[in-house]
This record gives sequence, structure tokens and C-alpha cells, in this order.
Amino acid sequence: MKVLKSFFAIMLVFSVIAPVGSAEVPGVNRSMKQGATKGLVSVSHPLAAKVGKEVLENGGNAVDAAVAIQLSLNVVEPMMSGIGGGGFMMIYDEKENDIEMIDGREMAPANVTSKLFLDEKGKPVPFSKRHTTGKAVGVPGTARVLEQALADHGTMTFEKLIEPAIKQADKGVKVNWSMAQYINENKSKLKNNKAASEIFFQNGEPLEEGDLLLQKDLAKTFRILQEDGPAAFYEGDIAKALAEEVQAKEGTMTEEDLKNYTVKKREPVATTYRGYDVISAAPPSSGGLTVLQILKLMEGYDVKKMGANSPQYLHYLTEAMHLAYADRAAYMADEDFYSVPKEGLLNEEYLKERRKLINKNRSIPEVKEGDPWKYQEGEKEKKKVVKEETPIGQTTHFSVVDKWGNMVSYTTTIEQVFGSGIMVPGYGFMLNNEMTDFDATPGGVNEVEPGKRPRSSMSPTFLGKDGKPFMAIGSPGGPTIIASVAETIMNVVDHDMPIQEAILTPRIYSAAYPTVRWEPDIDQNTRLELMAKGHAFEETAQHIGNVQAAILNRETGKMYGGADNTREGTVLGVDRFSYKAKQPKPIQEQKEGPFTVKVNNVEYPYTHDQLKLIDGKPYVQADKLLLGLGLLKTSDLKMYKPTKHSYLPAATTAVGAGFEVEWDEEKKELSLERDPVEIDNPIDDEDGDIITN
Ligand code: GLU
Repeated sequence: MKVLKSFFAIMLVFSVIAPVGSAEVPGVNRSMKQGATKGLVSVSHPLAAKVGKEVLENGGNAVDAAVAIQLSLNVVEPMMSGIGGGGFMMIYDEKENDIEMIDGREMAPANVTSKLFLDEKGKPVPFSKRHTTGKAVGVPGTARVLEQALADHGTMTFEKLIEPAIKQADKGVKVNWSMAQYINENKSKLKNNKAASEIFFQNGEPLEEGDLLLQKDLAKTFRILQEDGPAAFYEGDIAKALAEEVQAKEGTMTEEDLKNYTVKKREPVATTYRGYDVISAAPPSSGGLTVLQILKLMEGYDVKKMGANSPQYLHYLTEAMHLAYADRAAYMADEDFYSVPKEGLLNEEYLKERRKLINKNRSIPEVKEGDPWKYQEGEKEKKKVVKEETPIGQTTHFSVVDKWGNMVSYTTTIEQVFGSGIMVPGYGFMLNNEMTDFDATPGGVNEVEPGKRPRSSMSPTFLGKDGKPFMAIGSPGGPTIIASVAETIMNVVDHDMPIQEAILTPRIYSAAYPTVRWEPDIDQNTRLELMAKGHAFEETAQHIGNVQAAILNRETGKMYGGADNTREGTVLGVDRFSYKAKQPKPIQEQKEGPFTVKVNNVEYPYTHDQLKLIDGKPYVQADKLLLGLGLLKTSDLKMYKPTKHSYLPAATTAVGAGFEVEWDEEKKELSLERDPVEIDNPIDDEDGDIITN
């Protein structure tokens, strides 16, 4: 990713003489005057953020800070990432004007086959079982990522950068609300492991908010690394204990596998979105390519005009996601084993062909992968398309910018929360379950093979202008990472939101027709209107992702950041600008109504007060019913002004709208059915939102 050096020189001069008050970059608005000037970190935990800030304060650069933050996160957020896992670090080196990706993804041990996760009958072992044995553990990459990043870009020693983490592990840290919640949710997994339960339980009870989390064994391990360097993770006592523990739990990993682990430098994937550069993680992550595909598909629409989280925007977004995730399943995996058609997948003509499949009025049930190989050299390898949804885990993403303009965007993971649930006894760190990111079913591009890296969704990304990044952004959340990153980018670029608002704006996720996952505060009217187009919203809202972003306006030299509230996300600027996310309100369960209304077997999100039984017949509040049946759009509501108290007979109204209707008196359930392909919403007009097609 070299950009002309002369260009860099011009930019440098320009940045020095840039007038005060010059134009802001996406994600920053004029009310955000107090940007930092000496470096800034955005991290999912305040104590790790503080460690990063102090490194910057003491003269370290963004890579030094990133190394110290990762080590600290291993202590203060041990369920999400650490030396027992892997990740992708994206580094922008200001001096070289170069973006580099360090691939620290876990590798499959040498002694595995594509049938690793099949039972005796040849059926995939259920995820709940397969992710907690030694077979799930991939050879970790994180210590080597830190070693490589420091060797190439660092200015401080590993010995110094690990010191704060050692102190935190040795003296203990207070459990925050987020960790307490995760320990509680995973107590049965942790209880099954002696070493882990000794750390995360006290007198047989899971640690609670405010309790002290002491990790003496981890402190000991970190001291070994401090003395002998990160390479000591891969040979000697730590490697021996790790391999023994994995083998004791049915895995095959050997000390040799650990010794053979290598990080890889990959060329990031890149495209432009409305004139901005988007640079993200290459395979073995599917994240970058899929984020880029979604953005490019959306570039064909006037997203700004549609408005943030409007029904129209969310409809096109869902359809774009379906197309991109279909390609992801068919083509994206470890490139060292199968060639990934990276050019074809981002080719403008190919994307135009794919965009034509999107229908303005309805969600398309049958979405298949396209043929990107037609748009680039090479040939498709005949592989089965395996569509397996990996359960959503967690992970962590943090972003750093320093006073020299270097930036780091780093997504790092042990896969599920607390990974495999296995802690290396005597060494105090959790082992990943990254092997379950491979397909359990053999035959596809992402099948298990020795030495291969499982397909990831992690998408550490840079958003830039004229070859220079101004924003580092990313998220955890398995396949939902892709949606979180793409949506936050559109929120800043198209919807002109400042970064914090862009992060907190509710998101959706849908990898395939028809189910849509949604965050609290996606408006009920919007959901109803989208259901009329054939989308199926999950019954209850769920949080999606956990985005951390850092911004540098290279013209003014000011730095800003945004952090998510599903953990204690924290932004700390060295001289100024700080932010700590507030814990979100618990998600409300819906109160039961007098009956339920279902469309194609999915329950409509009506609240109990919107449903009424009159003479034993189901009535629904008029505006809500008309929205759900596709007879009204939310944008018409202002003109329409139905009163809150007017109710319509649901069955006859639905028949009139072309639904087949059944009323089950006993179950108190009204079922509506309509072939999704038949949906042709008569009230939809041509409002010119398509830019190209
Ligand atoms: N294992 C996931 C991936 O690499 C990350 C874990 C998560 O955030 O769910 O895509």
C-alpha cells in the first residue's frame, strides 16, 4: 500500500500550514472543538485505555500503545482476547505512508483432518459441544503479532510495555459491570475448568461487579515473556503446558505446532466509497471484502436522501448484506489454500450485475453467490458451498492514533466469550476456540485442513482520503462485525453523524433471507414496514457489535474518538478529549397481548395495547396494521393521521391486501400468509433513490 512519497511530502507541508478551522472529516462536526493533539486511544475497557494513553504520553507511538493495550486487555478483559488467541493488526505508518496488515490468525495444528468436527455418524457435533474441547483450539498468534509489530514499527521495548499488565494481573483489578455479566452468562462453561473457576469464582460463586480479579498465574506467565520476549510463548515451559492441556482435552496440538506458528504480512483489501478510501483486512478474514462489497452495493443508492435507519435504507442494506454474505460463504477463506477472487468481488461491473438482483419492494428469498471469476483472471475451483452460521461470539476491537499520525486498527479475539473455556493450568490464560470458525461440514473452501487459518469476519478498517487514513474503526461480533463496521461507516459518510452518534445508532444484521437481528430502538413502524416487504425481525432486540474508532483530522491535527456502550468503552486523548460509554438500559421483553399475529410464521412486533379482541375477533390499531400489511408507508403516516384509538378488523383487512388468513380461536393466533415473491407493494412509488443500476 505505498502511496507516492512526493504526495506525502506535499501533504506534510500542507498539514503544517493548514488554516485553522479547515473542513472537518466524516465523523467530526463543528461542535467537537476540543480534539486531542498528542495522541488518542479508543478501547473497550477504561483500564486498558489508561495504559495505552500513558504509553503515548511517555513518548511511545501508536504501535507501542497497541502492544501495551493488548497485554492489558488480556488481564482486564480476559474473556475476549489475549495470548491464547489471535487477531489482525492494521498499521498505518506515517513515515512510510504505508498500510500493513499483520495476520496473527490461529493456525490449525498439523494433525487434523476435514472431519475434525464430525461425530461417528458423520454429522457435525453441535456447536455447544464442539467449541469446548481441545479440538477447538487453534495455534495462537497474538504473542507473535505483538513481537512483529514492535520489531517493525515500535520504539519501546516489550519488557517495558508488558509491565502495566503484570501489575494489573498481580495486584488485581475490579470486575466491572460488563465482565460481571459475561462471567455470569458463562458460569457453566467456566465451572467445567478447574483453573478458570479458581480465577473467576470465589467461594463457589461467580465474581460480581466490584470484586477483585486476581491473576497471579497470568502475572507469572507475563514475567516469563518480559524476561525472554514474546517468542517464549512458542517454545519452552509455556508451550509445553499449553500442548499438554490441549491434548488432555482431546486435541492434537503439539509443541512442534507452536514452534511452527508464523504471522503473515498480507496486502490489505481496498476500495473507495463515495470518494473515501476504505482499507480493510484481507483473507483469511472475510471481513474486509464483505464490508467493502456491502458499501459498494450501497453506493448505487442515494443513501443520504433515504436517511439513517429509514425503512428504505434498511431494506436496501439488508438485501446488499444478503448478496455479500452469499459470496462470503462461497469464496472467502484462507488464500494460502484457495485463491479468493478478490478483484472480481470488488469489480464495478460485477457489483452492478449483483445490484440488479435487488428489488425495491420485496426481500428476495433465493440469494445465491455470483460469479466474480468472470471479472478477473483465474478459474473457480469446484468446491461445495457450505453455509454455516458461526454463533456470534465476542472479541475486542481498539483503535489508536499518535501525535505523528500513525494509526492502529486492531481486532483481537479468543472467539467465543472465554474462548474454549480452557485455561492453561499454572499459566492463567484462556485458550481460543478459533478452530470452530472452520466449517464443521467438509467440502467447502473453509473446511478444516492442517496448517490452515479459519475464515474470520474480523474487519479492522481504515477510512481515508487521498491515500491517508483519517479513521481507524472495527468491532467484535463474529459475522455481525461486518454489518457493524459497514453501517458505522455509512453513518459518518452518508448520514453525517459525529462518530459517537454513528456508533450508538442502532444497527441491524441479516446474513440471509428472511431473519433480521436488530438493536433496541429500531423503530416499530420501520420494522412493520420492512416486514411487509418480506423481512422477518427477530422477536426480541439484541445488541450487535462493539465499535471503537479513532479519528485524526490531518488538516487540523485534531483527534477524536468514539466508543461503544455494550462494554465500558473509553476514549482517552493524551491532552484532551475523553469519553466513557454509559451502560445501556436492559432490553425490555415484550408484554403479551390478547392474541398474536403472524406473517409467514413470524410474529409481528405489535405491543399488547395495539391488539384488541372485539366480540372475539382480532382487531389491530389501524396505522400499525396498515404498515404491517404493506398498505401504508411510515413516510405517509404524517399525512394519514390515524388516531391511536382506531382499530381495524385484522382478518378482513389482510384478505383485502392479498393474504391468506387463518384465525385459530383456541391459540388466539391470526396467521397471514403471502408468497414473498408475490409482494408487489401498490403504494410504492418511484422516488428516484437509485443512482445507478
Ligand atoms: N472468531 C470470530 C472471527 O474471527 C471473532 C469472534 C467474534 O467476535 O465473534 O470472526
